[in-house]
Amino acid sequence: MNKKIKDLLKRNNIHIIFNNNLDHKGYYIQRIKHIVINNNLSEQEQEMIILHELGHAINGEDGCEIYNSTFSSHCKEEWNANSFMIKELAQEYASCTGCDVEDINFMNFLQKNKLSYLCDEIKKIIKGIA
Ligand SMILES: [Zn+2]
Repeated sequence: MNKKIKDLLKRNNIHIIFNNNLDHKGYYIQRIKHIVINNNLSEQEQEMIILHELGHAINGEDGCEIYNSTFSSHCKEEWNANSFMIKELAQEYASCTGCDVEDINFMNFLQKNKLSYLCDEIKKIIKGIA
């Protein structure tokens, strides 16, 4: 796991549990500040899921009742979590390639992180931080 993710976990006092028998990719348990990750995913995919769940943990609303209350608040939570993940990945990509976030090659960034399914969403987020 990369150092930045480890630091984020440590700073926010969040722990990781790897589980071999998970029927989805991962989730966050707010009550005990644990992220549960499917251990059958590739390391790259695990890091992305951890960043997504960290987005819920750091920026999410308090309490599952709010999270589950309406479709639109659920979408907002997912948008915020993906947004957090993509910002972290974009900064990581920029520091690896030695360019500024606003100058990153968008297609290469998508390919490297296998993110084409989020294409439109990512364009908006990167425009927002650039
Ligand atoms: Zn989520």
